[in-house]
Amino acid sequence: MSPKSSDYSRGILRTIPQEREYPDPRSLPAQPSWQQPRLQLTLSELIPGIYVAATARIVYLKTSERHDALGNKLVFSGVLEDSTFKVPFVSHRILYPLLRNSVYKFYSAYVHEFEDNSVLLVVTEHTKIEPKNIEDYREFVWTPKIESIKRPVHHIALQGVITTIHSNSGLVKRCNKCKSILYDTCPNNCNDGWGWDLRVSSRLYDGSGSIKMVLTKDIASRILQKNLSELILLATQTKLVIPSNGNQFQTSLCTIRIPDSIEVIEAVTDNI
Ligand SMILES: [Zn+2]
Repeated sequence: MSPKSSDYSRGILRTIPQEREYPDPRSLPAQPSWQQPRLQLTLSELIPGIYVAATARIVYLKTSERHDALGNKLVFSGVLEDSTFKVPFVSHRILYPLLRNSVYKFYSAYVHEFEDNSVLLVVTEHTKIEPKNIEDYREFVWTPKIESIKRPVHHIALQGVITTIHSNSGLVKRCNKCKSILYDTCPNNCNDGWGWDLRVSSRLYDGSGSIKMVLTKDIASRILQKNLSELILLATQTKLVIPSNGNQFQTSLCTIRIPDSIEVIEAVTDNI
């Protein structure tokens, strides 16, 4: 699932922003003393609000500048992965160099939970970090299956069959203000008018579980091979043409070519 659409900026869907505010390390609970053992957890097991130990591979890493009350400072941020899941992380231990595709054990990293239940592993200035020599990297590669997605996650590839297309798919009217789908009036009573949008709401099943999958305008029009204005034209043009032969039905047929892969902006897990 690749969240690259401009739908982010328009705020149409409940999506995970790519850049989000990291918690200020000074606002985190104090680290327990080293005499207290940390739970050693996999990335799918992380428990929000505590310091844990985790061993994971760095999939992606970047250095960025952060501004806080004390001025500018550098942090590392990126994505960690093990065989069970992947999660974003931020490291305030800037003097400890991290390398992409290397595996580290993080002793005592804080698990921060965002409002949407996604988590962030916070490596503080006091987190002990130990590089691990790994012979078999497969232990640190997650092959996503729907059943294993317990929290929101970015950029994953899923393969499955579409078992259902929900009836609220197709051309929909969207409130100009709050972007809700509306039928007669906006459910939030905005009164700001509406615009046409295209979406396909469906379920994807991969053998382990099923997931609600929403194909947004660009992807849906690629699959239907018609752009939004062509579809609006089809939907609004006079449907009943009475030709001279008296045949009152007009049917149009189009062939759909399903692309090899589709990018999904939002998907929600829900086991069947
Ligand atoms: Zn509205």
